Amino acid sequence: MARLDARNGRSAPGDWFVDTRCIDCGGCRHVAPTLLADEAGLTIFTRQPADAMEEEQAWLGAELCPTQSIGTTSRRHAPVGLYPRQIASGVHLCGSNSRSSYGAHSWFVTRPDGNLLIDSPRATRKLMRAFEARGGIAAVLLSHRDDVADAEEYATHFGAAIYIHVDDARAAPFATNVIEGADPVPIRPGVVMIPVPGHTRGSVVYLVDDRDLFSGDSLAWDGDAGDLEAFADACWYSWTVQQKSLGRLAGHPFEQVFAGHGSWSPRRTTTEMRERLLALVDRM
Ligand code: SF4
Repeated sequence: MARLDARNGRSAPGDWFVDTRCIDCGGCRHVAPTLLADEAGLTIFTRQPADAMEEEQAWLGAELCPTQSIGTTSRRHAPVGLYPRQIASGVHLCGSNSRSSYGAHSWFVTRPDGNLLIDSPRATRKLMRAFEARGGIAAVLLSHRDDVADAEEYATHFGAAIYIHVDDARAAPFATNVIEGADPVPIRPGVVMIPVPGHTRGSVVYLVDDRDLFSGDSLAWDGDAGDLEAFADACWYSWTVQQKSLGRLAGHPFEQVFAGHGSWSPRRTTTEMRERLLALVDRM
């Protein structure tokens, strides 16, 4: 619950507030971009929600926040059923971002041959029940060592396989499927793990149906610039290697990017996404 005694006084006055435990992960600003903004390294409300739709956006931010820093002075309870939140056909934002992954987004993907959890949210009863109601989880796909969070709890609860690349596997000693090598590997029907070392040595992306690209912290969408981006100031292994990895990734068709950190993209043609990715590689 957000702490009133730590309320950030820079927030717009009113019922909604953000407390100063915020770690500035940026996640809430992706679901409530017209209400929340970064101010001196902390998130604030730039104004109070004005209607029911904006109230829902504020609740989406509150339910997602890894430090539970967003709340109301009137101590209202969140509406039920906010998450998993469908963002695209079959692709859902999980919410309940974990502090251990610095507030990274995770994704729930419904598939006829078994649903996928891509990176992990905090383990909460609400999400467990929501996943149960949607047919459970067949596989947990980890993009890299930083976004493991409560993957083991979800995998144990649902009897799911866990995939990770061998070069980041120390972060998930409980993984059932440790993938080696530098080449793309089909891991399930329509799902390919593509190694993209750079952000970390064992970073991978997951390409689903040659359309949806789950990019971990290797590639994201900059909503302000309206373009693909990568994070030089959050590259833990090698920026040069990451540049080469993303250059190779341009050989794979995708239409939409769902990131861990950073926002998700709108759907575009594979040609446009390839051109944007190649331009990003040039900028890197
Ligand atoms: S989600 Fe929480 S921790 Fe992250 S920027 Fe928003 S208020 Fe801060």
